[in-house]
Parts: sequence; structure tokens; C-alpha cells
Amino acid sequence: MMNYLFTEEQQMIKELCRQIAVEKIKPVAAEYDEKEMFPWDIVKVLADADIFGIYIDQKYGGMGGGILEMAIATEELSWGCGGIALAFAATGLGTFPIILFGNEAQKEKYLSMVAKGTVAAFCLTEAEAGSDAGGIKTTAIKDGDHYILNGTKQWITNGGEADIYTVVAMTNKSKGARGASAFIVEKGTPGLSFSKKEKKLGIRGSSTTEVIFEDCKIHKDQLLDKEGMGFIVAMKTFDNSRPGVAAQAVGIAQRAVDEALAYTHTRHQFGKPVSSFQGVQFMLADMATQVEAARGLVYNAAKMVDAGEKDIAGVSAMCKLFASDVAMKVTTDAVQLFGGYGYMREYPVEKLMRDAKITQIYEGTNQIQRSVIAANMIKSLAKSK
Ligand SMILES: Cc1cc2nc3c(=O)[nH]c(=O)nc-3n(C[C@H](O)[C@H](O)[C@H](O)COP(=O)(O)OP(=O)(O)OC[C@H]3O[C@@H](n4cnc5c(N)ncnc54)[C@H](O)[C@@H]3O)c2cc1C
Repeated sequence: MMNYLFTEEQQMIKELCRQIAVEKIKPVAAEYDEKEMFPWDIVKVLADADIFGIYIDQKYGGMGGGILEMAIATEELSWGCGGIALAFAATGLGTFPIILFGNEAQKEKYLSMVAKGTVAAFCLTEAEAGSDAGGIKTTAIKDGDHYILNGTKQWITNGGEADIYTVVAMTNKSKGARGASAFIVEKGTPGLSFSKKEKKLGIRGSSTTEVIFEDCKIHKDQLLDKEGMGFIVAMKTFDNSRPGVAAQAVGIAQRAVDEALAYTHTRHQFGKPVSSFQGVQFMLADMATQVEAARGLVYNAAKMVDAGEKDIAGVSAMCKLFASDVAMKVTTDAVQLFGGYGYMREYPVEKLMRDAKITQIYEGTNQIQRSVIAANMIKSLAKSK
């Protein structure tokens, strides 16, 4: 494997997360998938190992790492199970609005909770507002020192299980995109409820629900930054979180390569291991090369975010786009290399293929990533003139 010249701490995170993936996650992944259970026991393992605090400032009880450290952890945990790893990764998505836009009191309270293992969620999507997030209808109407939230968010990862929800809602519809604001809502707030869990193709160890606001009253201190910043909070959050989705895709894809290599080495046909056939070897070589290329892109995008580079939207979208397409291709090839056994749920690779698919869809579909990349290319061209 490529050497990414990690620091001692990054190497330690990688080894610890791989160990948890091998010893704790891999053995239960099929059961969580089958039973569609939220992995509370694994959340506890991760919390006890201080994994939730990896990207949280030391001031709030975290390890003080950044997006690269988060990506390393997400990749390794996703190697164990892409669904179970989401309890950690989507907590990052729910937490970035607070890291990026929270005031000191909000950070002190909520980042300390996350560092200890509190699960968070991010609520933007609605039934009629997916790619076009500007179409959200959930409202947050000012009422003295409070805001009253009404509306329904759809397909929220960690829905119902998380204690912290960061929510984008319209505070002033007449202002269009500048009329949205972001809030922190705690589980247990009257007027906040959840639908039953969605039944999904993959990542079935992850909870996906509606998050429903019915006259849900929150104090104005729960507003992130200022009114009108809702979509900026969302877009900057995605710039930071997309390397995490990409890392999830790399982890799933690497597992597919590992499983395919091990299987083709032991499976004999025509009196030889199938890995001795050039047609199989070329597939394995392409799979491994694509995963390594995706990994390099993810780590480099993560490093750029951590270095505080300004124009990260394009590279962040690129790594999510490329890694998720690689994950879909490589997991499909792994099923192919297992032959008929690959199609059976008794073997691990059909689950990898099902889990990989979501990485092309959420946090912006890959069509939307391409639009982001092209928009940034065109912007750079205009700037250079
Ligand atoms: C399992 C799961 C978990 C999720 N978790 C969360 C979460 O935690 N928080 C959250 O807020 N959301 C979450 N989502 C929502 C997710 O981000 C959206 O599903 C996604 O952004 C796409 O929106 P949509 O499903 O409405 O598709 P649509 O926007 O309706 O798109 C339909 C198709 O049209 C294409 N399309 C749309 N517009 C364009 C365009 N301008 N150019 C080219 N093609 C276009 C899309 O790429 C897609 O192929 C989750 C979704 C799923 C399935």
C-alpha cells in the first residue's frame, strides 16, 4: 500500500480504528444489516476509545485533529461496516455547523458532548427539497426570545437516535436563499418527534428517519451565527464533510478488494486458484489501483481543508464524486469475482455493493458534485482573467 507519511498520532488513529473494525464491527456487521439495528454497543466502544473526539478541539475535550484524522477514522470503521460507521461519520456532519459557526457557549456545551460520544444529526433535506435545498419549507418564526419551528425533514441519518440536531429552516421566506437560518435543537424539546425508521437497500445498521417539528419552541441562543446564514452554514458544512463520505466509500471499497483477493486465492476452478487467471488478475489490479487513487484524492482534499485553504468546494466535491464512483465499481467487481457466491447474503460482498450505493447519493448526488466542480472551474477561469 502507498505510504501517506502519517504523523504518529494519525497512524495511531488508523490502527486503533482498524482494530475496532476487525474485532468489534466486522463480526456483527451482517447481523446489524439483517436486523436493521442502530449500533449502540459500537457507539459505546468508539466513545470509550475517544474516537468521537478525534476532530474536536482539545479545549472541548477532543483530540484536536481535523478532517484528515476524521477521514482516516471513517475509512477504517467503514472497512468494518459502512452502515455502523455512519453513527460516527454522520455525527461529524451534524457537528460541523457548530464547529464552523457556533459561538463559544454553543461550542462549550455541544462539542464537549460530542467529544464524549453524544450522537448528532444534520437536518436539511425535505420531501420536496433534495438537490434543490433552496426549496425547503420548514419555518422558524421569531417569537420574542424564541423561535417556533414547524416542518418535516426527511431521510435524516441518526434520526431518532441522536441527541443533537442541527437544522436549516426558513426564518424569512421573502428573502429567498438569504432567508434561511441554522439552529441547534436538542432531543427531548417539546414539538420534536421522529417517524419510524426507513427500510433501505444498504447501510441498514444506520437509522434514517423523518425529523418532525410541530410548534417546536427553542431559545434564540440556539441560532447558529446569525439569521440568513442557513445555506452558507449548509454549504460550508458539506465542504468539510464530503471528504468523510469519500472516506466511507474508500473504506467500503478497500474491504471489497481485500475480500476479492482472499476469495479468488482460495477458490479453485480448472484445477487452479481463480486468482491465477489473467482475466481475474487484471480486475484485481484495477480495483486496487482505483481505490488507491481515490484514497490519495480524499487525503489530499482533507489536508487542504485542514490547512484552511479557501477554495475547497471543488476538491471536496471531487473526492466525494471519485471515491463513491470507485466504491460502486469496485464492490460490483468484487461480487463478480465471487461468482454466484457473491450474490448470496451468506458472503460479505453483496452487502458492500448495497452499502456503496448511498455514497453516490447523499451529501449531494454525484450529478450535483459535478455541477459544483464545474462551477468552481468556471469561477477560477473568470478570476484568472
Ligand atoms: C440513506 C439516506 C441518508 C440521508 N441522510 C441525510 C441527512 O442526514 N441529512 C440530510 O439533510 N439529508 C440526508 N439525505 C438526503 C440526501 O442528501 C438527498 O437524498 C440527496 O441530496 C438527493 O436529493 P433527492 O433524493 O431529493 O433527489 P433529487 O434532488 O430529487 O434528484 C433526483 C435525480 O435528479 C438529479 N438531479 C437533481 N437536480 C439536478 C441538477 N441540477 N443537475 C443534474 N441532475 C440533477 C439527481 O442527481 C438525481 O439523480 C439522505 C438520503 C438518504 C437516501
